[in-house]
Amino acid sequence: MCGIIGYVGKKNSVPFIIDGLKKLEYRGYDSAGISILQEGKLVTVRAVGKVAELEKAALLANPKGQCGIGHTRWATHGKPCEENSHPHTDCTGEIVVVHNGIIENFLTLREKLSSLGHRFKSETDTEVIAHLIEENLKTACGATPKERLINAVRKTNGEISGAYAYGVLWAQVPGFLLGVKNQSPMVVGLGKDENFLSSDVPAFLKHTNKVLFLEDGEMAELTETGVKLLDKNGAEKPLKPVKINWDQKTAEKGGYEHFMLKEIYDQPQAIEDTLRTAQTDFGKLLNLNTRELRALQQVHIIACGTAYHAGLVGKYYIENFAGIPVTVDLASEYKYRCVPRTAGTLAIAVSQSGETADTIGAIRKAKELGFKTLAICNVLASTLTRVCDATFYTHCGPEISVASTKAFTSQLTSLYALALFLGKAKGNISEASFNSLYKELLTLSKFMADAVKIEYDVRHITKRVYKAPHFLFLGRNVNFPIALEGALKLKEVSYRSAEGFAAGEIKHGPISIIEKGTPTIVLMPADSLFEKMLSACQECRARGAFVIAVTTQEGARLAKDSVDKTIILPYAGELLQPVLNVVALQ
Ligand code: GLU
Repeated sequence: MCGIIGYVGKKNSVPFIIDGLKKLEYRGYDSAGISILQEGKLVTVRAVGKVAELEKAALLANPKGQCGIGHTRWATHGKPCEENSHPHTDCTGEIVVVHNGIIENFLTLREKLSSLGHRFKSETDTEVIAHLIEENLKTACGATPKERLINAVRKTNGEISGAYAYGVLWAQVPGFLLGVKNQSPMVVGLGKDENFLSSDVPAFLKHTNKVLFLEDGEMAELTETGVKLLDKNGAEKPLKPVKINWDQKTAEKGGYEHFMLKEIYDQPQAIEDTLRTAQTDFGKLLNLNTRELRALQQVHIIACGTAYHAGLVGKYYIENFAGIPVTVDLASEYKYRCVPRTAGTLAIAVSQSGETADTIGAIRKAKELGFKTLAICNVLASTLTRVCDATFYTHCGPEISVASTKAFTSQLTSLYALALFLGKAKGNISEASFNSLYKELLTLSKFMADAVKIEYDVRHITKRVYKAPHFLFLGRNVNFPIALEGALKLKEVSYRSAEGFAAGEIKHGPISIIEKGTPTIVLMPADSLFEKMLSACQECRARGAFVIAVTTQEGARLAKDSVDKTIILPYAGELLQPVLNVVALQ
């Protein structure tokens, strides 16, 4: 995820672009840049860090021009540094591109373009777009440079694959911006004598609330006086702008009340983006050959807080699919416990930010013990990823809310995919079952899109219980860590006391804290452990608990006399269900 903005109008574009980038910072903030067309020449200013750093650099360079583009980056390919920050240019320096997304075939394209003489200046996937447009311009037809550019960009779109939204500016066509969308967001703001291109509405909402939401495959041409929309075949489409009535603050949160809610709703996309690269990445990232993979004896998962709960679920996944014994440690404990130096150990550190000090300390210890190390992390080039031998990136974009939501479900998705890869490499699951299980995993984001629709049921139930001083969460097996995560989430955001337990454990003591009306949230999809969970509900109800079942359609039917309320989720299968269950608890 990252933020794009483009301006074309009568005024100096720089303040519009810098201000727009500040509004897009929630989408990425490791580096930023602008390119402004000034008297026929492109002036580019880039800086590492937040947009404020770029602003300082721009004040010094002081570019001026009525057409420009800008970008605030959240790196996916190439560390955050000035060379890798956008805009990126072709060899002539006359074409500039800002991009949001991932060009999946960038390595092949980069090799091909290099062999044709193109010189690359960054490590990003984005730079291939600029060079490919340059290459395609050589043969593009059209009576004017503008027509040639449009045709070259259309040809480029046919050659790149992946998720992308990008903006292009060519010095030879002054006052003209092109925006392209495929699976990443792109909107156009229609102003008076000025038009805007952006990843999101807040970037220009101050100046216009007339917005055009581009569809996949569409391309927008912007000049000071108008906007033209082309469909994927290049045919012109009528403009159907909508009027946005959000205020600035609401718009920054995508219309949601707060970032945590927005990020809950980001989860289908986060899962899809994470899985998009999983298949290609896991194969090579461990840098272990088949013999070494087969020799793996054990896995240590190390993490803190929510990521630790993801690790606990990961244990079920890896033991189930790969048959490798797994231990899961809190990083702060791993550092100080006696860890035997066992050959064939893979240590996996899970962290959203990659900067969690305890996790970094613990993985350093694992390295010293001679273990192979893998990070599951969301931030490119963070300390953890530099310490570990290899990294698998969750691609859920920056997580602004302190209470983690989309990073957690992306971590679960990654651990599931990793377990399948290890299972195949170990020979524990056949190629055929790997393929069918992986296909199943790819449908998870669709289930997630349905799961997030439960908000109104949850709100309704919450009204009944929100005054309670203490909450219990129960789960079994792969849903036990989800009960722990539910309790943690509730504590973090409501400051109420909450505890999560393995359902089979309540009879060994915890049941004594149940009083009349204690809200007890029970994770009980209609799966192989459903009957056991039903007994747990009855035990709790006998002590006066107010039982809320997080279940499936079938589970709700079977449990109706044993629970007080139900929250019904779609059923994604026994091992994937925790990823959906947690949404109800978030
Ligand atoms: N893949 C591009 C980069 O790493 C864009 C990043 C993004 O959209 O998050 O620079």
